[in-house]
Amino acid sequence: MRIRLDRDTCIGMFQCVAEWDDGFEADEDAGKVDLVESEEIDPGIFERDVPEDAELDAKFAARSCPVEALAIRDDGEQIV
Ligand code: SF4
Repeated sequence: MRIRLDRDTCIGMFQCVAEWDDGFEADEDAGKVDLVESEEIDPGIFERDVPEDAELDAKFAARSCPVEALAIRDDGEQIV
């Protein structure tokens, strides 16, 4: 499972941090979230694998985002 953050779209509401505390870090100065241990695959687009024991939290985090800045793929198929 992979999670993707579109950091330009992020408006810093930080619901995702509340849902998956280990996966995100709030950058309150920038009003954006950082996806921990991610790589920037395109400008402003960050991705990482989701550890198996964090899959539920990651899905809740992605669903909680009010601006759909987060997406989750499993076996190449977008599930959130
Ligand atoms: S919930 Fe969405 S808008 Fe809010 S910090 Fe997370 S990614 Fe950004």
